[in-house]
Amino acid sequence: MDRKFIIIGALATSTNLNKFQITRGFVIVQKGQITHKGESDCTMLKEQSVIAGIRRIELLDHQFLMPGFVDCHPHGSQYPKPPSYQNKKVKTYRPKRQYEYPFYTSSTYAKMVHKLVRYGTTTAIYYGSLHVDKTMELVRLLVQLRQRAFIGKVNENTENRHNYFNDIHKELDDTKDFIEKVLALGNDLVQPFVAPRFAVSSDSELMAGLANIASQYNINFHSYILQYACEAREVLRSHPDCQHYAAFFDKFGILTSKCVLAHAVHLKDPDIELLKLREVGIAHCPAANTRLHAGLCPVRKLLDHNLKVGLGSDGCGGNSVSILDAIRRAMDVSTHLELQNSENRGISWKEAFYLGTLGGARVLNLAHKVGSLEVGKEFDALVIDIYAPEGPIDVYNNSLDRNAANYDESLVQRFLYSGNDCNITQVYVKGHLVKDDAKVIITESTSDDRCTPRQ
Ligand SMILES: [Zn+2]
Repeated sequence: MDRKFIIIGALATSTNLNKFQITRGFVIVQKGQITHKGESDCTMLKEQSVIAGIRRIELLDHQFLMPGFVDCHPHGSQYPKPPSYQNKKVKTYRPKRQYEYPFYTSSTYAKMVHKLVRYGTTTAIYYGSLHVDKTMELVRLLVQLRQRAFIGKVNENTENRHNYFNDIHKELDDTKDFIEKVLALGNDLVQPFVAPRFAVSSDSELMAGLANIASQYNINFHSYILQYACEAREVLRSHPDCQHYAAFFDKFGILTSKCVLAHAVHLKDPDIELLKLREVGIAHCPAANTRLHAGLCPVRKLLDHNLKVGLGSDGCGGNSVSILDAIRRAMDVSTHLELQNSENRGISWKEAFYLGTLGGARVLNLAHKVGSLEVGKEFDALVIDIYAPEGPIDVYNNSLDRNAANYDESLVQRFLYSGNDCNITQVYVKGHLVKDDAKVIITESTSDDRCTPRQ
């Protein structure tokens, strides 16, 4: 695929939590960036010869373009979990660690990254493992497969029965070593971040050291917060100077706009206020929270407090690495809370679409680059085909009324409620085609060619 092309058809995007739009129009992509976007036709551009001679992709009536998914919390090394891990009632915030150790091989990572790309995840923030060399294998794969990614070497320095920790000096040295190695690659899509596993897996000295490293390199910081209510008891017992859980992170200077905290199921009001004040992002992982009996994250409450919220597949505690699946699970969890109390208004499909795209980009401080289809942003996008041949959505003569005012919206709804990876027929990252199963019309255009969308 050359680096300049025009895609014509239905364009679906969020511009904020409350604003979803789908229009018939076009985007022009040049050198990985959206340079033009318009509605209905591109006559003016044709007159200006802007689209002369560039590749033209026309979507069919039952296809649409949307931003790529953002996964705010997948684990690389825990990906191939055994079936027994599912539906476990975890009584501690520490799931059994044997699920992490034997699996961090390059073939495991390859399977996972390929799957995420196939499922339309164009950006992900990966936990690696305790080891620099193994985590670098994941980095090299991400570079090779052109996925936009943040990746962290997991940090632990408190003793555990699996002997899965390092002393503080090695952890700090290894973390710097890892960051330097990733930065030395000079890849604009793959960036390092700092990743202490849990609050209790790193002692105060390590937390302070890691916060300094994140600040020194101006990189993101990613950890967990309150997936289980019992986490608070241990942390607050060990840190009596903290009135509430988030204060523990805050005393080390960890809570900044570059901090992403996963799960956040059992936040208290003071936690929420502090996280909002510090502009911290939350990775909501509905599948893992349910499967591991952690609880129902009150996403509506977090959104009402203007916290930045995106979705995480988890990839370990959950049973899917698909953000499309996470969108459905997020709606389910939210609906369950509404059923318990009607004041907990459930999130709509449009809000869930936002959480899986632009919301995630905001959590990772990437909203200026990706997350929506807007001029000036990099082209991370998906072509969705509702009637993809192997897909789960059947074609019926009366299934979609093409003349209905909400026809285009109904395409997106069908995908969110009933689609799967078969419906994701093209995946672009920064203008590069990284998955292509599409049945679209591609022509080499001239300035005189028709450039109105197919009706
Ligand atoms: Zn997790």
